[in-house]
Amino acid sequence: MKIIMLGAPGAGKGTQAKQIASKYSIPHISTGDIFRANIKNGTELGKKAKSYMDQGLLVPDELTCDLVVDRISQDDAAAGYVLDGFPRTIPQAEALTEALNKRGEKIDYAINVEVPDENIVNRMSGRRACLGCGATYHVVFNAPKKEGICDSCGGELVLRDDDKPETVQKRLNVYHEQTQPLIEYYGKADALAEVDGTQDIDVVFSDIIKILGE
Ligand code: ADP
Ligand code: AMP
Repeated sequence: MKIIMLGAPGAGKGTQAKQIASKYSIPHISTGDIFRANIKNGTELGKKAKSYMDQGLLVPDELTCDLVVDRISQDDAAAGYVLDGFPRTIPQAEALTEALNKRGEKIDYAINVEVPDENIVNRMSGRRACLGCGATYHVVFNAPKKEGICDSCGGELVLRDDDKPETVQKRLNVYHEQTQPLIEYYGKADALAEVDGTQDIDVVFSDIIKILGE
């Protein structure tokens, strides 16, 4: 099963993608996580990506597309995957479609997690990410057992630089301009499914299971 998560930054793509990956035993591939791991490890890619991410801008397609096409070609992705944060532009979607076409494959579901802009700023200002394992929490909606400490690995939880309110508005503008057109793109490809992302995390997930099947 090949799945794409669509939706604004902070809509809950990563939260749902992790649960989908676990239920259907497929890898969760997040381009944001890949870039953040590269930044942490001080790689050339990380240095380049950081300059865009800190400004709330998208990392250029030429640094992103090959990376994803390589990743989905690995053995663990043979039975499918859930892509979170990719594609984010029409050229990225076209690159993905072309790479899949070459192998006679296609995306089965593009799940659009719908959350209005006015909810997004709250979501992002309350998001906390683990410096150790990348797990994500929310101070109100999905709080860790102990404040500031990751339940999974005991790492320190921080507010991402790009989740500060001044950057969030920029990221939302970028989303509407560059990423939202993908809803129509995957609608035309007959892969689009929509869920109401303003509901509780568990309710959103059960709606997604209804789409994907038990
Ligand atoms: P995205 O991957 O789309 O950027 P996340 O999955 O990281 O978004 O979610 C953004 C923030 O909102 C996180 O702090 C997460 O815990 C919280 N969150 C996710 N889904 C919901 C929901 N349905 N209701 C309330 N908060 C949510
Ligand atoms: P995310 O973790 O998905 O919210 O992504 C964090 C940031 O990483 C984004 O704001 C972008 O700067 C960058 N990024 C992640 N995925 C992509 C992508 N597919 N194309 C371009 N930039 C990306």
